[in-house]
Amino acid sequence: MEAAAIPSGTWPITGHENAVDQLSRAVQSGRVNHAYLFTGPDGIGRRTVARTFARALVCQADQASRPCGQCSACRRVLDGVFPDVTTLSLETQQAASERRDSRNTVISIETIRELRSSVSLRPMESDWRVAILEDVDRVSRDAYDALLKTLEEPPSYVVLLLIATEFAALPETIRSRCRHISLEPIPRALVAETLVKHGVKSDQADLIARLTRGRIARAFDLTADPEALEQRRTAVETSLEMIGDPLAALAEARRMADIYRRGQRDQVQQQIDLLVGLWRDLLLCAAGRPDDVTNIDVIDRLAGAGQSWSLNDIQAAVESCYQALHDLSVNVQPRLALNTMVVQWPEPR
Ligand SMILES: [Zn+2]
Repeated sequence: MEAAAIPSGTWPITGHENAVDQLSRAVQSGRVNHAYLFTGPDGIGRRTVARTFARALVCQADQASRPCGQCSACRRVLDGVFPDVTTLSLETQQAASERRDSRNTVISIETIRELRSSVSLRPMESDWRVAILEDVDRVSRDAYDALLKTLEEPPSYVVLLLIATEFAALPETIRSRCRHISLEPIPRALVAETLVKHGVKSDQADLIARLTRGRIARAFDLTADPEALEQRRTAVETSLEMIGDPLAALAEARRMADIYRRGQRDQVQQQIDLLVGLWRDLLLCAAGRPDDVTNIDVIDRLAGAGQSWSLNDIQAAVESCYQALHDLSVNVQPRLALNTMVVQWPEPR
């Protein structure tokens, strides 16, 4: 078949044109590799692309319209109950294990054995037996050998779809046996436009597109999570208060240190990340680039505050936040680390 004759724009995927193009050509030409490796940051859409590819492989419609989204195979893949498509991940491993213990921070040898036994079966309803393995960068050392064996001698009907974050962090033995599909952030305007098409108001769509930085799957997750958006909004208020009032900053730093000591480390790290984001937005406003800010919903207050400090003052505040993240990671006393952070911020004029 002439490559040019193959349409590729019919997949229900926003952005990622190169990946969709490659994969849809493989489906339509029947020249399918036995292993694909999808890489990119969390929330970029790796799972969506891999699952859509799986659907295209097993779809019952004519080749040009796969995946049709309508047939029984397509619908059952979406519901996770199609017999020829298996998905394994830390999440499925955790759900399968009764005790949520430390073994669940890595993909275990048992999970890779499950993968091997699933691909040893002939497909029941389609031409392919597809196995999706997520969190490949978290495969335990002993399980890697078993995974490698699966990659080395796959039966002719098997397609393995591996999902990882960083290509470079994986062993060469895994990388060299897979067709690599690298997913990059997609343009902010396209994320916003897609959300609007799904019924999100344009202001909200623009904010979510900025917060998620081209990670379309994360953008959809956030859209569906009003509680997370509300929590961010509250955290932005607290952070702006800290930035505008040195006494409030000291009090909040003390509270953050207390909850950090009580084990809520992620929450404190997220709050510092948000502070970094706000200081960076202030830097952009002070540098005359307000269009590039992340926290667009508080742009008026940022633009006002940004004028009262020099670029150097704001840069020092950004660095103090990074320093605090570093200090906490090397076990400096939380109160000392967070206090040191806020006392380096410039005073409002
Ligand atoms: Zn279908």
